[in-house]
Amino acid sequence: MKLSKNHYVIDENQPHIVAADHPDRQTLQQLVNACPAGLYQLNQDGSLSFNYHGCLECGTCRLLCNEKTLTRWHYPAAGYGITFRFG
Ligand code: SF4
Repeated sequence: MKLSKNHYVIDENQPHIVAADHPDRQTLQQLVNACPAGLYQLNQDGSLSFNYHGCLECGTCRLLCNEKTLTRWHYPAAGYGITFRFG
């Protein structure tokens, strides 16, 4: 998939995914490994870097954890989010 072809409309006022402040590190590593867009990154100090702007809305991270790790997960509001463009 050529991610650069996709079009995003970002809702800057309401992130559709929010990670907890101190999530379980083992679960975080699963998210780092599984997110196809590479949006989860563990820093050297163990903290999490996450940016929902490139989200593919695939739902993988939602399936891998619960609300203790991601305090919010829903699809972006109407008019926001990704538009896939192939080719
Ligand atoms: S929904 Fe998919 S692309 Fe978006 S953050 Fe979760 S795993 Fe990554």
